[in-house]
Amino acid sequence: MTTPFYTGGCQCGAVRFHVEGALGDASVCHCRMCQKASGNFYLPLVSVRQARLTWTRGEPKRFRSSNHGYRGFCGDCGTPLTYEAPDGVALTIAAFDDPAGIAPRIQWGIEAKLPYVDAISDLPGEETMADQDAASFLADLVSYQHPDHDTDAWPPEREP
Ligand SMILES: [Zn+2]
Repeated sequence: MTTPFYTGGCQCGAVRFHVEGALGDASVCHCRMCQKASGNFYLPLVSVRQARLTWTRGEPKRFRSSNHGYRGFCGDCGTPLTYEAPDGVALTIAAFDDPAGIAPRIQWGIEAKLPYVDAISDLPGEETMADQDAASFLADLVSYQHPDHDTDAWPPEREP
């Protein structure tokens, strides 16, 4: 049996990680602290308590959000990366290079769930290129986001 192996990191690539071993519980947390820490409606996290987490490039900056916990994030680009509690570390699911396979199994903090969250999946949906007003903007867009895989060719040479 091969050991599960995962890679991920922040948007700019200054912080990268490897996880060897089975991931723990995947969840979303609606609590107000997780809303603030992610700048989002809720925070998707997966425990790596039973696995081996290695920071392969850089290391998160940390904000002590309570007497029991820290929030790790990239000090260069701000991507939320960790929730660190006495019982272990959880990583933000979307920071993984392949988050599609890490499905949340439970919601926490539902007393703080924002009132419109459950209705989002019922909203009208369009693909990015359907926005004709943004088409010319998108046509020559160059992403400076780190690619979703480990690479030594980073950061790339950039036009000024
Ligand atoms: Zn970054």
